[in-house]
Amino acid sequence: MRVLVTGAAGFLGSHLTDRLLGEGHSVLGVDNLSTGSLNNLAHLGSEPRFRLEERDICGPFDPGHVDYVFNFASPASPPEYLRLAIETLRVGSAGVENTLEIAARYGAGYLHASTSECYGDPLQHPQSESYWGNVNPIGPRSVYDEAKRYAEALVMAYHRSRGVNTHLPRIFNTYGPRLHPDDGRVISNFMMQALRGEPLTVYGDGEQTRSFCYVDDLIEGILLLSRSKEHLPVNLGNPGEFTIEECARAVLEVTGSKSELHSHPLPEDDPTRRCPDISKARALLGWEPRIPLKEGLAKSLEFFRSQVGSKVATAEVR
Ligand code: UDP
Repeated sequence: MRVLVTGAAGFLGSHLTDRLLGEGHSVLGVDNLSTGSLNNLAHLGSEPRFRLEERDICGPFDPGHVDYVFNFASPASPPEYLRLAIETLRVGSAGVENTLEIAARYGAGYLHASTSECYGDPLQHPQSESYWGNVNPIGPRSVYDEAKRYAEALVMAYHRSRGVNTHLPRIFNTYGPRLHPDDGRVISNFMMQALRGEPLTVYGDGEQTRSFCYVDDLIEGILLLSRSKEHLPVNLGNPGEFTIEECARAVLEVTGSKSELHSHPLPEDDPTRRCPDISKARALLGWEPRIPLKEGLAKSLEFFRSQVGSKVATAEVR
C-alpha cells in the first residue's frame, strides 16, 4: 500500500510510520513541524519507501494516489494547543476536511486520531463510547476539545454521505520514547524533572487521575482498527488508572530519583478523572494493552535520558 500519514514527525505519527514501513508499505509523511520534530524521523534518512513533505494540511493538496490516510496532524499537549489555539482549531476542521477529500478522491481508507478529550471532564466513569461528554465549549481547552469533536462529526459525515471507509479511535493518554521532552505533558515533565534532579511539578492536589497507554500497545490498536469494519468511535487506551501523585511516585521509582514533589496550581478545566472502558475494542479487535505503567516507563527511560541536556537542539528543530 501507499499510505499518507499526516503529523508524521510527531510522537504517534512517527511510531505509526515505523510500523507501516516495517510491514512493507510505502509512506508519504506530511508535517508542518509546528510541534513535530525531524529528530523523530532521523533514523529513516536512507529509507527509500519513506518521504517527508513539509506542509500545512490546512491548505488543499494532492499527494497522488494513496490507499490509506492516517490523519495525526494536530498539536496535542495542553501547553502546545493553548499556544497554537487558532492553528489547532484550523487543523481540526480545514485540515481534517482536506484529508477526507483525499480519501474520497482515491477511494482510500481513512483513520482520524480522535481523543478522550471528546469526553471533556467526564461525569461517567469509566468512559464508554456511548457517553456524549461534558465539555466546556468556550474554556481554554475548547480549542482542542471542540476541534476534535467537530472532526468526529466531519468524519462521520464523509462516511455517511460520501461512503468513505472511515475509522475513529478515541486515544487516551499515551507515552513512550519520542514524547516531546519539553511539551509540558505529565509523563515527559516528570521523567525529565526526575532525571535532572528537579522537583516534580504536581498540579492541584495530585488526586486527578489519568490512564496511561504505552505507545507500542496504542499503535497495535490503531492498526487493528484501521483494518476493521467499525466506523463508530472506539476507545483505545490502558484502563489502569493512576492519580497524578501515584504517577509521580512511579516515575521516581523507575528513575531512582530523589526529587521532591512540589504542588502547582491546577490548570483551568483540567479533567478530574479519566479512564477508558475498552470493552468495545476488546470485543471488536481482540485488543488490549499489554504493558503496565512501570514497565512502559522503564522502556522509555533511555529516550528521556538521551534528552537531558539536549533542550536547545530539540527547540531549534521545532
Ligand atoms: N500535570 C501535572 N504536572 C505536570 C503536567 C501535568 O500534575 O507537570 C497533570 C495535569 O494537570 C493533568 C495530568 O497531569 O491532570 C495530565 O496532563 P497532560 O498535560 O499530560 O495531559 P491531559 O490528560 O491533561 O491532556
